[in-house]
This record gives sequence, C-alpha cells and structure tokens, in this order.
Amino acid sequence: MAKQQLSGRFKSKRISWTDEELRITLGYYYFIYEHNTREHDYELFTIHLRKMTGNNRSFGSVGVRFGNFNSVNPAKSGTGFKGGDKKCKPIWDACINKDGTPKTSFIKEFMDFIQTYGGNNKIYEPFVKKYKQYLKTTGKAIEDDDSDDVVTTDDVDQSESFGAPEYKIEPKPQSTNVVSKKYTRDAYKAKKAIFNAGYECNIDKTHVSFKTKSGKNYMEAHHLIPIGAQDDFNNSLDVDANIVCLCPNCHRKLHHGANIDNELLKLFNDRKDGLKKSGIDITFDDLKKYY
Ligand SMILES: [Zn+2]
Ligand SMILES: [Zn+2]
Repeated sequence: MAKQQLSGRFKSKRISWTDEELRITLGYYYFIYEHNTREHDYELFTIHLRKMTGNNRSFGSVGVRFGNFNSVNPAKSGTGFKGGDKKCKPIWDACINKDGTPKTSFIKEFMDFIQTYGGNNKIYEPFVKKYKQYLKTTGKAIEDDDSDDVVTTDDVDQSESFGAPEYKIEPKPQSTNVVSKKYTRDAYKAKKAIFNAGYECNIDKTHVSFKTKSGKNYMEAHHLIPIGAQDDFNNSLDVDANIVCLCPNCHRKLHHGANIDNELLKLFNDRKDGLKKSGIDITFDDLKKYY
C-alpha cells in the first residue's frame, strides 16, 4: 500500500494516446494551430480534448504532439520534435492525402468533435468557416458526375441488356492516384440505373424532361453518396443501390440547390435497405453532410 502514497507526477499513470485522440489533435494542428498566432488557444482545445477522452492530458503533452506532427509534416521537412514517427506518421497518413489535402473522413471527424466537445468555441472559427470549402477541395471527385462524363439516357444502348438491380457487397474499386485520388466508375451500372428506373425520375415519376432521339425520356445517373467519399467507406459506393436516375432539373438541384432535404430524404428512404445490403452504413444526417 505504501507505494501508492507517492505524490505529484509519480502518482499519475501515463495514459497512452489513442488513435482517435491523436487524430483530433492532428485536426487542431492542421486546421487551426498552423494558421493561428494566438498560441494560448490550444490550452482551451486541450480542455475540450479532455472532455472527449475523460483523461487529464496536460497542455505540455499536447504541445509536444504538435511538434511531433511538425516532424512528420512533409511541408516542414526536418523541423519539429523527432519521435513522432512511430505513432504520428500513420495518423498523418490516415488523415491527409499525399497532395497535402485533408481527407473527407478527417474533416468530418474534427467537425463532430467541435460540435460535441468544443461548444462551437470561436477558436475553431477558421475551420468552421471553411468547412464546406474543405469538403469540396478534398473531393474534386465529389462533383464526379457533375461534368461532361455524366451518364444519360443517350448512353443506354437499346441492344444492351440489363438485369434487375442487385444489392450485394462489392469491394472498393481501384483508385488511380494521378494528382488527386479518383475512383473508377462503371458506366454500365449508371446505364442500368436509368434503364431500371424506366427512364423516370427517382424523385418523382411525373417529372418531365424531354424525349431524346431514341424516343426515351432524357435522364441522368447520379451517385447518392458521392464517389469522392469512397475513402469513408469499406465497400464500393459504385453499386446499384447507390446510383439513382434523375431528371436533369433534380440532378442540378441536388448539386447546386439550397434546400434539398426533401429530395434527399425521398432517395434515402427508397435506397437505405439496398445500401445496407451492399455493406454501406449511413444515416440521413451523414448523407446530408456530403451535399
Ligand atoms: Zn450527380
Ligand atoms: Zn426529377
């Protein structure tokens, strides 16, 4: 028993850093600390971090982690405190793309932290203000089908045959690492979605567009959860359950409209079972974050 009478720093047990704690600390380093001259703000951050972990992490040890992240930050080669390699390097790689942009999952995790433990304190303002912009810059691919290579009615060859939609788990597609990461998409599945919708808008069958030269309604395929979010999921997003057929007006609205909750909810409710069978777990609130 006598051994437990020790006082001061000898009394407190070393609490090892969890991956989650390190990711959140990297979030503060990456999104705030690097761009902020008010260095005492990080003490407030540490208090919020304590709320999350329930441990009494010291200001100093959080500061040391910033130094560790500096040492693994490719943009700062050779500075910072060494010793971060073992734990901080894999965290960095899990959160930040090779081109230095943050990953979608990382952006959202840090936002969740601010909302849950940070009380939306103004120290996080630089990040919160840029939140949507961050989401857009990470996944240029978020706008993946918002360009000329969108699959439309005109791509559906009348001689091609399409089966009914299949709801099954598929492995993630290959990602090609050009400049920013882009996952390949299967045009066949997009065509299949249009075909199986009977060339009608999945939001409302009565929506009219125009007849194409083939005599069918003009429709466009759209990934409900954008392909740019693939990093956030373990299974492929390029599956039948996740591809919807939309009239061009609804499609533009989903990409550019201000109030799209009703449209999204309709699609989400129609697709949630199929998504689940395809190994894709998402809540409506999380879906909204991608728009
Ligand atoms: Zn789209
Ligand atoms: Zn429509």
